[in-house]
This record gives sequence, structure tokens and C-alpha cells, in this order.
Amino acid sequence: MSLSHTLTFGGSGLDRAAPLRAADIGGGAHQDARYIVLWRGKPMILDDALVRVGPTHPVLADASPAHIFLGRDGDVSVFAADLSGWSPPDLDLTHLDTFLDASQQQHPAMPQGAYLAELRAIMTRLSPRDAELAATAKALQGWHGSHGFCARCGAASVFAKAGWQRDCPACGAHHFPRTDPVVIMLITHGNAVLVGRSHGWPAGMYSLLAGFVEPGETVEAAVRREVHEETGVIVGDVRYLASQPWPFPASLMLGCAGVAQSTALTIDPVEIEDAIWVSREDMALSFAGQHPTIKPAREGAIAHFLIAQWLADRDPSAVAQGLV
Ligand SMILES: [Zn+2]
Repeated sequence: MSLSHTLTFGGSGLDRAAPLRAADIGGGAHQDARYIVLWRGKPMILDDALVRVGPTHPVLADASPAHIFLGRDGDVSVFAADLSGWSPPDLDLTHLDTFLDASQQQHPAMPQGAYLAELRAIMTRLSPRDAELAATAKALQGWHGSHGFCARCGAASVFAKAGWQRDCPACGAHHFPRTDPVVIMLITHGNAVLVGRSHGWPAGMYSLLAGFVEPGETVEAAVRREVHEETGVIVGDVRYLASQPWPFPASLMLGCAGVAQSTALTIDPVEIEDAIWVSREDMALSFAGQHPTIKPAREGAIAHFLIAQWLADRDPSAVAQGLV
């Protein structure tokens, strides 16, 4: 049985139908179109599925008129509508600075039971297709929200290519959605794995070390540099395992395995709060919720997936490709 579905955002084979983007498909109503709706990055769901509405649904009256074309799903075109300009009544902003926004919002045009939810809170319950659609929509809407001005000349840029491009009318530059590569690494030494925690995480939670790939750097070099900067550990062999789109806001997680050549830990307190070596037995207890102090990585995150495969002594790269 394939275990690749256990990697959230692991891909569903969505037909992104890139040639259709040039046809300004986002501009008008399409009878075969279905719209998923997001508000400030939070998708509208009902019964653990994305809500899909038709082109005349009243909720779209509160959405930005520029819809992003996500692709063809069977015989329908799927778009992402952005409700971010709408203000829910009784909006409670006290949740916005927490580790996870647990608040839910309802829209008056939507049926009972439909609500807007933080993607991280519901991502493991979505189908692979819905997870891919939601991740793509959230990443693209976030990019439009923070890239309204031309990076070359500073003029206001405009939505183009059904949401996959922004054009500058002043200088003619074209801008494309960003995806920022991040390495995340399963560093092992014998029977132990290296995990760390960042400032502000829930008490006891440890996960794999991670960091942005820098310009001019290979994936392997980024793994070795980040681990050394954060913990002082020297890493030898590095191997790519699996990747995960992570639209919080625009990352691509590159999961790697690395073999430690040293074990002494020198923590960089600016980068991380703590790092520890954890034995396979202790990590198994943590994943079972039975370890007295160590809480596992968040379910749905690639760190959780990589550690779970390591605990099961499976090759995560084979699992992610559906070979196991
Ligand atoms: Zn410009």
C-alpha cells in the first residue's frame, strides 16, 4: 500500500492547465467554473472538504473580482476567490498572534456548518486534491497581497495571466509568484535523531531543524550550514528525501537526510531555543503521546512524516514517491 498520501500537500496530480492562463480566463464568469473561497488565507470548508460554489453564488459579491485559475479538476475549471476585503461581524482579533489561529468565521451567504478555518488546523483532514487546491490558492493570494508594487520601479502592478503573473504598466516588467526553498533535515547519529525547538513553540514540542536556502548555495550545503549554525553539529553525507509545498506563506520544504559526524551541541540562542538528540525509543514514545517531556512535530508537517518513516525504518523518499 502506498503511504505517500500521508504527506500532507504531497500532491494530487491536479491538471494546472497552464496554457489556459493566457486566455484571461479569470476575467469573466464561466458556466463550468467552480470557486473555492479563502478569507485572509483561511479556506471555507464544510464537512472536511473545500466548499465549491458556482459563478453566480452570492458569496462572490464580497470577493475580489480577480479570480485565480487553479486548474482543471475533471470537467470543471477551479478558481480561487479572495474574500479578504470582507469584514466578518464580531471579528475577534485576539487569535491572530497565537501559534495557531483556532478561530472560525462564517459568511452569511454560506450554508450552516460552512466556516473559514486556518489551513494548518484542517489540512490533515482534506483530500489530497483539496489540500493541493488550498495550498496553491493560499500561496498565490498571499503573493498578490504582498506584491502589489513593481520590485523594479515601484509602480503599482496589475493582476495578469489568471493570477500567475503581475505586470507593471510603468516599466513593462513581469513578476512571477515566489516559492522560497527551505531545507528541513533528518539528522541522525546511530540510533538518535537531532531535533530542536524555536522560541514561542508549544511547551515540549521538538521538530527537525530547518532553514532557508541562501542564494548561490546548494541544498546539501544549506543542510550542513544550517545544522552547524544552529547546533554546532558537523554533517557528512546528505541525501534528498521528499518535498512539501508549505504555503505559510510561500515555502517549499526540501526534506533531506544527513549523517552527523559529531554529536556535541552548541546552541545558537538567537536561531533556536534548544536542540537535543532523541533516541528512536524516546521518539516512538513521543509520537504515541506517552513521553513525559517531548511533544512530537505537528501532524501534517513534513517533519512529522520524515520522523514517522524513520521510526518505522522505512525510506521516506520511496514512501513519498508511492513506492512503499
Ligand atoms: Zn515597474
